[in-house]
Amino acid sequence: TVDNNRLDHLMEERLPDHIITLFQNIGQLADEANVKVYVVGGFVRDLLLGVNNLDIDLVVEGDGIAFATRLARFLRARLRVHEKFGTAMILWEDQKIDVATARREFYQHPAALPQVEASNLRQDLYRRDFTINALALQLNLPSFGYLVDFFSGRKDLDQGLIRVLYNLSFVEDPTRIIRAIRFEQRYDFTMEVETLEFAHEAISRKMIGEVSHERMFDELLLILQEKNPVPALRRVTEMNLWDYFLPDLEWSERLERELTTLTELYQEVKDRELVPLETRWMPYFLILTKHMKPEGVKLAIDRYPLKMWIREAIVELASTNEQTGLLMEQSLQYGKLSDLDKLFQGWSIEAFLALRASYALPKTVELLEAWHIIKKCKTIITGKELKEMGIKPGPHYKTLLNQMRWDRLDGIVQSYEEELEHLRELLFELGFVSKD
Ligand code: ATP
Repeated sequence: TVDNNRLDHLMEERLPDHIITLFQNIGQLADEANVKVYVVGGFVRDLLLGVNNLDIDLVVEGDGIAFATRLARFLRARLRVHEKFGTAMILWEDQKIDVATARREFYQHPAALPQVEASNLRQDLYRRDFTINALALQLNLPSFGYLVDFFSGRKDLDQGLIRVLYNLSFVEDPTRIIRAIRFEQRYDFTMEVETLEFAHEAISRKMIGEVSHERMFDELLLILQEKNPVPALRRVTEMNLWDYFLPDLEWSERLERELTTLTELYQEVKDRELVPLETRWMPYFLILTKHMKPEGVKLAIDRYPLKMWIREAIVELASTNEQTGLLMEQSLQYGKLSDLDKLFQGWSIEAFLALRASYALPKTVELLEAWHIIKKCKTIITGKELKEMGIKPGPHYKTLLNQMRWDRLDGIVQSYEEELEHLRELLFELGFVSKD
């Protein structure tokens, strides 16, 4: 039997009005199209937990693509269809809506219609990772807001348990072990006893070793994108799983402290838009690789699809020490932004943050602001002007322009006139021209 609970009050209370309206529209369209539509997965889990999450995943019992097309037309939204998977993605203003077709099964008794329909959704949810992710909310108007809970996910949510849906779950997809760690630590849950046993069993059978490097990297990324990834990383250590991510990593109190410092640093600069969201994981990754044996680093990063600048950042960071951190602090203290620039020319903000967290020092916000000033600072006179002044191009262009930039950073030069004046002095000093 299906355990139905009406959640419309909770929805009213916790969801923004435009989402409620969207859901009601979806429900009405579903009724008209004579299909059943549910919002499933993380959205429902987080609604019950009172956590903000507006990633909408819909499952349609019926033709998902046809329904998505209808919904997109209704919303005047963009639609992308994946015929092969029976899925579609709707982009409605900033809101993404994923639509999937519930997997159809073969039935011996096609006459038993209601069960067949319910079974479609049930099958779809049964393939999922954990009971807490296998909840569905019906959107059809007559039963708007009914919680469909085939596997007692709500009870597990209440008790804080991560539980697989069937015994061979981890064998079938060992990345679920990593997902279990991530959800467990994110919500401060625990793995249900049997689930933990299944996980240990799959680990001792070295099932995770069968997973491709790309997928393992994706899982690591998902951990590093958590608001605070440190507890999950500690759990990876406890469960002895680093071999599958970064084999030569040496976990230590120091490493843990550096990672924690980075999390605190993100808290500190919150809302200041100083660090791009998409690459927030990277400084964590850089700190991790800094704690690997140098021989291991190359091997580990070669198997992951990392962009060149990330590889370079790993090498850059490996070459730093406490002294680098100290220099950074001093240049800020004495207002010598030029020194900061000399230290970090060509560095990415991500490598800079990792360095910052590694050599924990105060004044993070000031440093990041200084960083942005440095990155934005430009001289008014450029190479083009130098050429027009009749100075022969060559490596000294860089010397000249750098020096002028540094003087600007340190406040020695502010206006165009001052810059020009300063350039004349420099040209004289470097022996390009005689004075006047
Ligand atoms: P998050 O809050 O991290 O986004 P989510 O639950 O929305 O969590 P997704 O990774 O977006 O997670 O996955 C969407 C849904 O797909 C999940 O709720 C889960 O049920 C299912 N899922 C994802 N990965 C797997 C997997 N490896 N095995 C089984 N089901 C999975």
